[in-house]
Amino acid sequence: MTNMHGFKEISREHLSELNGEAVIYEHEKTGGRVLSVINNDENKTFGISFRTPPENSTGLPHILEHSVLCGSKKYPVKEPFVELLKCSLQTFLNAMTYPDKTVYPVASPNEQDFRNLVGVYLDAVFFPNLTPNTLMQEGWHYVPEEDGTLSYKGVVFNEMKGAYSSPDSLLYEATQHSLFPDITYGLDSGGDPEVIPELTFDEFMDFHGKYYHPSNAYAFFYGDDDPEHRLVMLDEYFSQYDKIDPKSEIGIQAPFTAPVAVEKKYAASDDGNQKAMFTVNFGIGRDRDSMSDLELSVLEQILIGLPSSPLRKALNDSGLGEDMAGVGLENELRQLYFSTGLKGIEAEDGPKVEELVFSTLKELTATGIAREDIDAALNTIEFHMRENNTGSYPRGLSVMITAMTSWLYDEHPLEYVRYEQPLADLKARIEKGEKIFEPLIEEIFLNNTYRSSVLLLPDSNVGPEREEREKAELAAARKSMDEAEYKAVVAKAEELQKEQEAHDDPEALATIPRLKVSDLDKKGKEIVCEEKGEMLYHDLDTNGIVYLDMAFDFAGLEDRLIPYLPLFGRALVQTGTKSTDFVTMTRRMAAKTGGISPSSLVNSKHGVDESYTRFILRGKATAERSSDLCSIMGELLRDASLDNKERIRQLVLESKARKEQALVPSGHIMAATRMKARFNEAGYINELMNGISGLEFLRELAGRVESDFDSVVADLEAIRAAILNQANLLTNVTLDAKNFASVESTIADMVGNLPAGSTASATRNRQAFSKAEGLCIPAQVNYVAKGANVYEHGYEYSGAAHVISRYLRTGYLWDKVRVQGGAYGSFSMFDRSSGSLSFVSYRDPNLTRTLDTYDGVADYLNNLEVNSDELEKAVLGGIGEIDSYMLPDAKGFTSMVRHLSGEDAAFRQAIREQVLACSEQDFRNFAKAAQSVADNGDVVVLGSKKAMEESGLDLDLVDVL
Ligand SMILES: [Zn+2]
Repeated sequence: MTNMHGFKEISREHLSELNGEAVIYEHEKTGGRVLSVINNDENKTFGISFRTPPENSTGLPHILEHSVLCGSKKYPVKEPFVELLKCSLQTFLNAMTYPDKTVYPVASPNEQDFRNLVGVYLDAVFFPNLTPNTLMQEGWHYVPEEDGTLSYKGVVFNEMKGAYSSPDSLLYEATQHSLFPDITYGLDSGGDPEVIPELTFDEFMDFHGKYYHPSNAYAFFYGDDDPEHRLVMLDEYFSQYDKIDPKSEIGIQAPFTAPVAVEKKYAASDDGNQKAMFTVNFGIGRDRDSMSDLELSVLEQILIGLPSSPLRKALNDSGLGEDMAGVGLENELRQLYFSTGLKGIEAEDGPKVEELVFSTLKELTATGIAREDIDAALNTIEFHMRENNTGSYPRGLSVMITAMTSWLYDEHPLEYVRYEQPLADLKARIEKGEKIFEPLIEEIFLNNTYRSSVLLLPDSNVGPEREEREKAELAAARKSMDEAEYKAVVAKAEELQKEQEAHDDPEALATIPRLKVSDLDKKGKEIVCEEKGEMLYHDLDTNGIVYLDMAFDFAGLEDRLIPYLPLFGRALVQTGTKSTDFVTMTRRMAAKTGGISPSSLVNSKHGVDESYTRFILRGKATAERSSDLCSIMGELLRDASLDNKERIRQLVLESKARKEQALVPSGHIMAATRMKARFNEAGYINELMNGISGLEFLRELAGRVESDFDSVVADLEAIRAAILNQANLLTNVTLDAKNFASVESTIADMVGNLPAGSTASATRNRQAFSKAEGLCIPAQVNYVAKGANVYEHGYEYSGAAHVISRYLRTGYLWDKVRVQGGAYGSFSMFDRSSGSLSFVSYRDPNLTRTLDTYDGVADYLNNLEVNSDELEKAVLGGIGEIDSYMLPDAKGFTSMVRHLSGEDAAFRQAIREQVLACSEQDFRNFAKAAQSVADNGDVVVLGSKKAMEESGLDLDLVDVL
């Protein structure tokens, strides 16, 4: 036992799961906890978390999460968080509110940059400059309108209005609340927009004082930075406190003695097209440990992990609904629960779904679970654990979230991080023939009264009624104010606005620590890539996993077949083949590979209105199983049963339901996709596949599957014949050289068995879109886009465009659309290949005001005093974006995209140099591009019809939902 910088070492152990050492410390003065992971991951990660159980649904933990990032003692600027976004090489910088904790993670591959981030975050959480204005801006406040009425504004207020407009997120909240009515999990830590205005400043301050304290803190470090310095940084803050008992334990819900049923409504349009959703939910009362949680994870995978899994298949086959509902096993809270069900059902069919769940599970326990399903589930789970592919998330962050799952409840932080032993034990028990999962089904599902059902019904009155209630509440508030009180409200709103419009003091800005441009690499890093005929090979250390992309050019597909592509991809991997039925094939893929999934790629070639397009089937497996992988991928490409009507019907309905559910969470993407369809061929193709047009196509297709399935099969077969052949194929392999030697010929054999085919290229007849479109959905918020092809208006590309586009997003647009406008976010999207520049807002209460803001971009850029400090920050941020951190599989994929784009290393280096040399003149040049958006831009709004009609804008309205 050693003591260091105020910390007592509790334990130290080597973990193969982490490729390193895990050390647990306790801060002697405050009891503050630390988990310090030392390994050679250069993507260094830090997070500090607090236990923050809400006491009501005002969204206090969430508003506080936003607010502490709005300036602190050492860094007294308006938003240090945004300053870091501007100028750090961060690979992760965010904060998240959970039902019982608030976490503040950062990551960076650069050690100095990493320390800077940690420093700013520690100061933010412990010494934030919280004022009534912070609560007003981030939470809620009254805005006096010109007609003398009041309205509400606030970033979280609108963020949550967006969340409450999404049936998916309503269903999730209702499901969780239904099982935990007596404890903190029965409340909404994010905030219910109807309750948020009850939050007072005193409560806000009390909550911070009580919970943002080292005695209630969980600090986490991970990576290859200096481990001793971690403690020095923490002790600087922790040592300023004395130990307290924060009394923040999470309560335990007593199990129900009888099931409960809950019914809720969501805002729908009045055409009756939207359907109900239903979940059946099971509280899990057993004591948790790593073995028990693993058993449950495997059981979840067995029951619903694959489209062929018995429970998922029974629900899909029932024809009762369109897509699965429920989260499956929820294991990030103190008590576990399992939830499943269906979306897109008739209102009266809830009981049928529930009955089906029970009868399926009963049958499973009677007949026994197929060994193939157990093997498929185990391999899937094991592959993911070993691959540890966290996508664009830092691996450290995933470890931290896993650790918090036990740590937050006073269990050992490594309980669920260690998986090798429990996995080996579980496999041994299965090998011995022990029946594990059937008794578990009886315990969790069949003999459990601690359960609930949730029925979520569409109702066209919900939206208008909610608005009425809000109006009435605001009118009552106004009425209760005497003249002096009203004047005070007006004054406060004005004061806040003034504060928001004021610029940070340069001296204060200079406190934000950052790298210098001279610290940056002048030369960009290239990804290793070897061209071997029609194969690209990347020699990267993938931990023995082969990543194989089969990329087929689809330039030869006629327009009318393009919208099929996403479905075609799913059909390839989810219908079985001529010789292997769907269930057997799905199990085999799960048992032998790490997954096979389709995607498509469409981009513009630089500077011309032509695109490059690829349909991609990506598979991964351990190198030893590469021949299984190749034989399965070859079989799918040649022989997938595209005439499997039952599966095609399910896939169409599922795809349609998912697209509809994505409208609110991804409204900005949908609006931007629609926008870009106007500007070039690639944008048009993307809209056909993935945009509103793609959704309209799926709706039409759902009918045609029933009325004229033969035509659907003919079209799918036409796509296969046109593109899945050697002539269109580029293969892309990412794997270390030692393993590649044995894999190369296996891949070549599989490719050799595909039809030879020939290349073709179809002519496109692009549909015209109106200059200003309004896409109507029953939501309380809007997504507002305006854009143009700036190359057509004379803008000449320079790498500086990326710097300035980013600068706008974190500066002008952030301030005007988010901070002052009350929207949740706003983006500037510039595509260097096509020249399309679009400004887009996210969960926005405004319409015309936001468009005016976009139109002001040029003026802003023209008048901006670009001092050397600001310029340096902008360049740092730009380089951070270019050098974004990637895991090996992402590197291999990116390298393929670069190859297809025709942009070579010299071009990338030239861009980098233009970024590094970005000057005031570049800002002025970009102002001209922005001006052409203002003068000639098209407008797309996705959102509330009422808001669009009232806006006075001349929009062509389209009902989307
Ligand atoms: Zn938020």
